[in-house]
Amino acid sequence: MDDAHRIAQAARKSLSLFCSEECRAYCCRRGYLVVPKQQALVLLSLVKDENRVKHLPDSVSFKLKGDCPALVNFSCSVYDLRPQVCRDFPLFLHGTTVMVSGYCTAVAQGKLYPFIAQILRLGYTLAPNNPFAVFDFDTDFKQDPAPDPTVSVS
Ligand code: SF4
Ligand code: SF4
Repeated sequence: MDDAHRIAQAARKSLSLFCSEECRAYCCRRGYLVVPKQQALVLLSLVKDENRVKHLPDSVSFKLKGDCPALVNFSCSVYDLRPQVCRDFPLFLHGTTVMVSGYCTAVAQGKLYPFIAQILRLGYTLAPNNPFAVFDFDTDFKQDPAPDPTVSVS
């Protein structure tokens, strides 16, 4: 795993307590979850209302509407088998672009700002229309001390 992915992983991990105790799995309860067919089997086995499932050519769309079929007491009951998008949310690295979900309450509170800044120092760019547009990264992170991309993930 390279430095940028290590930092992204540390960013996601830093949210664990906030996700369960404060946000209470908002992202598992709102909107749609679209996953490749091969990652959808475990969720399909838990679906109780077929009307909330749409089969697309290569993927399956789950209408969360209150909760994901795998959500139990605000926790993911299939954590080790959860789809990749759930593992990556709310911070995605595509090539050298950083994408951040505007639907994440932790993102809205700026909790990932320090991690994003570290990734940008490695030469990544922020995707357009990101929820961090209110920050002036060009000014802010260039004024910070010398970059230290070494982030330990316990
Ligand atoms: S919306 Fe963000 S803060 Fe809330 S549970 Fe999902 S990842 Fe965690
Ligand atoms: S599979 Fe798990 S992490 Fe993904 S939306 Fe459902 S409950 Fe949340």
